[in-house]
Amino acid sequence: MASMPSLKSREIKIVHNMPISKTLPFWEGLKQGKVLATKCKKCETLYFPPSADCPNCLSSDMEWIELSDEAEIETFTHVVIRPTSFQQYKPYTVAIGRLKEGVKVLAWLTGFKLSQIKVGMKVKLTAKITPEGNPTYAFTPFEEK
Ligand SMILES: [Zn+2]
Repeated sequence: MASMPSLKSREIKIVHNMPISKTLPFWEGLKQGKVLATKCKKCETLYFPPSADCPNCLSSDMEWIELSDEAEIETFTHVVIRPTSFQQYKPYTVAIGRLKEGVKVLAWLTGFKLSQIKVGMKVKLTAKITPEGNPTYAFTPFEEK
């Protein structure tokens, strides 16, 4: 089993169980608007954040697949007290969304008023580029702006 993402994390660590040299397809995917996960070719377990090896069957024969963009919010938290490294941002909301593939994604939830956010609502998983130019991803409303 992959470890569960935790809202207790002070920052969202996008890729944490993969050597940096192997994460390049992930970043390239984000730049192209795709959020990629890895799938074990042997036992077909899906990993997000991507994993270089399969803890389930110990295979290293992994392939990259594009995740669907529809997620359902399982839990969320509104962060008013920000970690030092996030002081330049306004209060923000992070959420865990479950994709139809079954993986859970921890990401920022943007584009909603706090009063609109509900457990069980459908949101879009969107690859984006931060104002600093870093590829990332977030949950956003489905309607186009
Ligand atoms: Zn496996």
